[in-house]
Amino acid sequence: MQLAAIIVSLVLTVVGVALITRAVAQIYRFVRLGQPVPAGSRTDDPKARTITLVKEFLGHTRMNRWGIVGFAHWFVAIGFLTLPPTLLQAYGQLFQADWVLPVIGTFLPFEMYIEFIGLMTVVGIVALMVIRLLNLPSRAGRKSRFAGSKAWQAYFVEYIILTIGLAILVLRGLEGAIHHVESYDAAYFVSYPLVLAFKGLSLSTLQTLIYFTAMIKIGTSLIWMITVSLNTNMGVAWHRFLGFPNIWFKRNADGEVALGALQPMTTGGKEIDWEDPADDAVFGVSQVEQFSWKGILDFSTCTECGRCQSQCPAWNTGKPLSPKLLIMSLRDHAHAKAPYLLAGGGKDMEGNEKATEEQLKDVPAAALAEAERPLIGTAEENGVIDPDVLWSCTTCGACVEQCPVDIEHIDHIVDMRRYQVMIESAFPSEAGTMLKNLEKKGNPWGLAKKARVEWTKEVDFEVPIVGKDVEDLTEVDYLYWVGCAGALEDRAKKTTKAFAELLHIAGVKFAIMGGDEKCTGDSARRLGNEPLFQQLGQENVAMLNMAYGEDDDEPETKKPKSSKKIVATCPHCFNTIANEYPQLGGEYEVIHHTQLLQHLIDEGRLIPVTPVEGLITYHDPCYLGRHNKIYTPPREIIAKVPGLRNEEMHRHKERGFCCGAGGARMWMEERIGKRVNNERVDEALALNPDIVSTACPFCLVMLTDSVNGKKNDGQAKESIQVVDVSQLLLESVKTPADPAGEPEQVDAPEPEPAK
Ligand code: SF4
Ligand code: SF4
Repeated sequence: MQLAAIIVSLVLTVVGVALITRAVAQIYRFVRLGQPVPAGSRTDDPKARTITLVKEFLGHTRMNRWGIVGFAHWFVAIGFLTLPPTLLQAYGQLFQADWVLPVIGTFLPFEMYIEFIGLMTVVGIVALMVIRLLNLPSRAGRKSRFAGSKAWQAYFVEYIILTIGLAILVLRGLEGAIHHVESYDAAYFVSYPLVLAFKGLSLSTLQTLIYFTAMIKIGTSLIWMITVSLNTNMGVAWHRFLGFPNIWFKRNADGEVALGALQPMTTGGKEIDWEDPADDAVFGVSQVEQFSWKGILDFSTCTECGRCQSQCPAWNTGKPLSPKLLIMSLRDHAHAKAPYLLAGGGKDMEGNEKATEEQLKDVPAAALAEAERPLIGTAEENGVIDPDVLWSCTTCGACVEQCPVDIEHIDHIVDMRRYQVMIESAFPSEAGTMLKNLEKKGNPWGLAKKARVEWTKEVDFEVPIVGKDVEDLTEVDYLYWVGCAGALEDRAKKTTKAFAELLHIAGVKFAIMGGDEKCTGDSARRLGNEPLFQQLGQENVAMLNMAYGEDDDEPETKKPKSSKKIVATCPHCFNTIANEYPQLGGEYEVIHHTQLLQHLIDEGRLIPVTPVEGLITYHDPCYLGRHNKIYTPPREIIAKVPGLRNEEMHRHKERGFCCGAGGARMWMEERIGKRVNNERVDEALALNPDIVSTACPFCLVMLTDSVNGKKNDGQAKESIQVVDVSQLLLESVKTPADPAGEPEQVDAPEPEPAK
């Protein structure tokens, strides 16, 4: 037995070590196939990055949001990292059954640690197996977060871990028996029952059992190593190694997820100069190797856990997009195409092959065939990513928020959109109208600029306009950035008027732009039209800087960011001005209207007194919540309004469910599956609320459309209202005796045809 155990273990070890060495080198070379990133963008502040990595790993910060799963996975991960000394011990036991590790082998804390982590690895993996079995796609179908994951790989890894964990405990029991542990001993506090079970066996039997069990432990570990080495796209196994660099190289050193701003477009690791783009500049991604190396590392790290998929509004409403399946497809494609790329293969801008026949002569046929697949294409075209997948994303950020290994889905999706829009002009045709309107009129509706200030005539107080009523913005506390929807869309205008009136009541000095401002460019950028975003953004930044009395040619006129305060009612405008305009030289202190309103209430400048009776549920706008972490102010405002009873929908805050408008989806038809806004409203209606509230003009429109449709179908009560929190606050701040006028009617806006 001993000889057989030694031979089997050593042969497997030689094969396993050789293959894993080759696989690590392969993955390193695959990842390097990606494009460079801007200098320092992934390596700045190494200390903060290291702290982030330690925190995320030791705290399992994402997974612990999933209750027992996070707890169970923590022990399995810690066991994987810290139990290798038991493997060394097993090698020694092959040659001498009662061998112990030198120095630490009989050190009590070490023995107790091995016992405890060995047990918890077994308990943890059993818990994870049970959870998987209870959530199998065969039971839950599309609702299962494992739908589409490679099941055999997950089972394989789970059974390997279980076998190794059990082998560790059995070996401990055999060690106790061979070392004549006679009574309950702290060093065997877990395995003592096994010690008792083996007690009484002859020495030679114990030795044989130790050789056998050590072989099982080593052999199982090596079979795992060989299998994962032969499957470099086996994310469920490789994430154990790749998760660490992927988290360390994440977009934000401080640990923030890759939400908020989109990244500037780069080519060859440098930002594109839009004034004079290089002749060989690559616009967006049309080949998998055009992603950055961090993109390829992202794809390779995916564990296939499906947390992203379970939160995705597109997937949950029957669309073909699952962020997990998208990442898996890119990973499998990248790995399958890698031999061709590593041989020097690739296409130039005209689609001609760059490599010679000689270079490609040893490339496997499968890799050559993979290289011919279009990155974006239908099933008939053998595409890697279907256009319907690409255009279903609302950029809601739920996937990025949940991913335990910090994969940056949105950036990859937008990079692919950029190529489709800028080079192929291939995007849903309905969005073309919006783009044309933005180009010609500076707003998505194509209305004249004077229409932007029409709403000011519908309020009974004066709304100061910069350049007309105030010379520049240094005279006021805040610029109120009304935004296109707030100025031009009838339902959103109610929010605008309510907020402006609240500012007026609170005595806040503010002004608005006079109509020359343009759309911030949020939709254009998320659709993939980066040049249009750049154009709109640069014009707005120049205008804003001028309105703050700055002259770009005179640096001494520059003002500190803190003195340039902007308040926005639209979370998309808020996000773009606060997080993206700094990329264009526009640095402002931007807050959302709910933050300012909460502040004014706290200061006693707005006092809600009139009860607004009813059950309310609040919908978190993605660009306010997940993208900018503003969850509390709207809820605080609701809490301050007497009479309102707030009840949360099941999916709220970090797990809030999109309304369907983000990522320029507002401007596209929704032809596949259930409408996202209907899914959200169904969730709200399950609470039987009197009021559905939100804090975003786009959410307001989407939710109102759905509620009105359901009223028409008799699925929603007529009295239900969809309003912005500012409308509720205004109703409560105004007392019935207020001589200034009638309380604002917060009834449902007039129905408009659903788009
Ligand atoms: S951003 Fe939202 S819609 Fe897009 S893939 Fe992620 S979860 Fe799905
Ligand atoms: S992308 Fe992240 S959340 Fe989604 S399956 Fe992969 S590891 Fe899990």
